[in-house]
Amino acid sequence: MNNSSAQTNTLAPPLDIELFRRLSEADGPSGFEGEIREILRHRFAEAGGEILEDRLGGVIGVRRGTADRPRIMLDCHTDEVGFIVRHITKDGFLRFLPLGSWPGDVLSAERVRVMASGGKISGMIGAIPPHHRTGKTALPALESLYIDIGAESRDQVESWGIRIGTPIVPATPFQLMRNPRRALGKAFDNRAGCALCVEAFQRAAGFAGTLYAAGSAQEEVGVRGAETTAATIDPDLAIVFEGPPADDTPGFRREESQGALGQGPQIRVIDRTAIIDPRLIERAIALARAAGIPFQLAARASGGTDAKAIHLHGRGTPTLVIGVPVRYAHSAAGCIDLGDCESALRLGLLLIDQLSRE
Ligand SMILES: [Zn+2]
Repeated sequence: MNNSSAQTNTLAPPLDIELFRRLSEADGPSGFEGEIREILRHRFAEAGGEILEDRLGGVIGVRRGTADRPRIMLDCHTDEVGFIVRHITKDGFLRFLPLGSWPGDVLSAERVRVMASGGKISGMIGAIPPHHRTGKTALPALESLYIDIGAESRDQVESWGIRIGTPIVPATPFQLMRNPRRALGKAFDNRAGCALCVEAFQRAAGFAGTLYAAGSAQEEVGVRGAETTAATIDPDLAIVFEGPPADDTPGFRREESQGALGQGPQIRVIDRTAIIDPRLIERAIALARAAGIPFQLAARASGGTDAKAIHLHGRGTPTLVIGVPVRYAHSAAGCIDLGDCESALRLGLLLIDQLSRE
């Protein structure tokens, strides 16, 4: 690598909150990421990127420096957990399958948007009310839930552009909370990561090698899109921006917390699907310490990220995962700390900058 080009900007100016809002409120359940893809395409192009696409819904911005290598891949998965119509009852209710993992106990009475072909339709998730339940008041199983869009018949539902296979997402508006460091909204897993990926690509303007920013599809259904984006890019190293679950709320053992809001981004060392190259972990820790960026190391017994596919690409691709803890991930509303987002962005930019000078 050479050091002739301008340095990347490693100071993170204020985050683009409107970008977070747009990405959170846009709808993109697994396999239906089009709205997110368009936002990313636009922003990658605005940042001087040439646009590539894979054939699985991935979108990639490419910016070439003075040398082809190294090829650094910034990655974010664009999909969110959602639902898909499995059956329309005669009286106009929608039975659904989950897209990604949803616990059934967080769904009753949530508002949703059905992404009908003629435009989005509001509805809510229904369950048998407690008054009508018999025996023990067990939580309703996911399979027993349905969506009520106010229709009176299957014909009416179909006339509204809904069929088996129509996708559905939660309908949760984005808002800054009373504490302006905290934001509430849907799909922060992984739209927080998408926003950071966009911002990092935009700000790392002087990268000497080739910088790629990839919005990978279908992570929530088993890390599918990162295989095809990694194959399209063939990177030397990757940084994955994620929105992993926080563990700092009542019910957790706080002294074991690895994802507390406001304590900085997570640097993930291991999960079910990847053991992160320890040299990359050491680099990230050293950069964070030197810059005074808070961080949390995370060793996760479960879960996985796009690193699953990317670190196995080719002969092996060192892949760092930087995560912004999301409270209530995989439910209709979540909460993030914007300070964590800023720190995640700074750390990512420092690493890109360092790689640019080697
Ligand atoms: Zn995620």
